[in-house]
Amino acid sequence: MTDCLFCKMVAGEIRPDVVYEDDAVLAFRDINPQAPTHVLVVPRTHIATINDLEPSHAELVGRLYLAAREVARREGLAERGYRTVMNCNAEAGQTVFHLHLHVLGGRPMKWPPG
Ligand code: AMP
Ligand code: ZN
Repeated sequence: MTDCLFCKMVAGEIRPDVVYEDDAVLAFRDINPQAPTHVLVVPRTHIATINDLEPSHAELVGRLYLAAREVARREGLAERGYRTVMNCNAEAGQTVFHLHLHVLGGRPMKWPPG
């Protein structure tokens, strides 16, 4: 999608602070971090929301979590703990309509989330 911010990052038109990438995903630091580590893991394919997932995306969703695991390891969060969040649509606060997994860590997390 030409007018999608995260597609532009995947295409290299905008260069974020990349912490991990592979053939399926790109992971980069959030521009407005909500924790000492706040990384977004995005699929290279444009999928707008969780509602747009199809059975054919099952492996790709797994790849997002495998990338989150690697980000957590690299950021020193794996043992102390971290949170993954995927917002869907307005009431969850989704603002960028290209699927992304937030990886947050480096401080104690509250529950329930706000
Ligand atoms: P969400 O609210 O779940 O859709 O998350 C979108 C996230 O994208 C927010 O946490 C934003 O801070 C982040 N974001 C927006 N623009 C950029 C950008 N140019 N580079 C990195 N992160 C961004
Ligand atoms: Zn996109």
